[in-house]
Amino acid sequence: MGYKAKFRVWRGESGEGRLEDFTVEVNEGEVVLDIIHRLQATQAPDLAVRWNCKAGKCGSCSMEINGKPRLGCMTRMSTFTEDETITVTPLRTFPVIKDLVCDVSFNYEKAREIPSFTPPTDVKPGEYRMQQVDVQRSQEFRKCIECFLCQNVCHVIRDHEENKPAFAGPRFFIRIAELDMHPYDVRDRRPQAAQEEHGLGYCNITKCCTEVCPEHIKITDNAIIPMKERAVDRKYDPLVWLGSKIFKR
Ligand code: SF4
Repeated sequence: MGYKAKFRVWRGESGEGRLEDFTVEVNEGEVVLDIIHRLQATQAPDLAVRWNCKAGKCGSCSMEINGKPRLGCMTRMSTFTEDETITVTPLRTFPVIKDLVCDVSFNYEKAREIPSFTPPTDVKPGEYRMQQVDVQRSQEFRKCIECFLCQNVCHVIRDHEENKPAFAGPRFFIRIAELDMHPYDVRDRRPQAAQEEHGLGYCNITKCCTEVCPEHIKITDNAIIPMKERAVDRKYDPLVWLGSKIFKR
């Protein structure tokens, strides 16, 4: 059975804007992105929203729904009561271009700072042999759809623009961890580099990133904490320190 829902949507450009109220039809089985599309079709044709697959796999329709970072296409209207006002706002951590569309280029700049996979020169493609456990470890991190909800919720940069130059963020900590744990990556990726060059030390493992990840990647437990432990081992364990001096890694 359909009903009329109350929506409050942020409208504006370049930091100037306001919340606008709408009453809009909702049908059974719909998600928040369906309602945004209905608003575009009926009441607000110039409402800007980024979306693509509508299947939770492209990571485009990231937004804040009642203050929580979520994918519009994966948030069912049935999670709200019919008399609830649903507030939809753009991601807070990135500059707004228009309405619900943000400039997320911060994330692409951070991606460029991480050196790519570097295989050994004496192993040819097709000759790689990996243990299943190593494959599975990478696969978890490779589920990332780059929705940047984890980046958006991270308190290190959410309210602290000044931390952005020194902090890569959770999405890129899983990238660094994946490469650091890859048996065929020969580049020197000491955890200290993640600590010092990519700002791993800023993270105080509140797990907000893990909570919002639509791919259920255990960002904190499986990437950030192991890297922090290894960084501390190398710095404070005299045997590990001595070994790293002798073996240069
Ligand atoms: Fe999105 Fe999860 Fe990837 Fe972060 S780690 S960008 S929340 S899919």
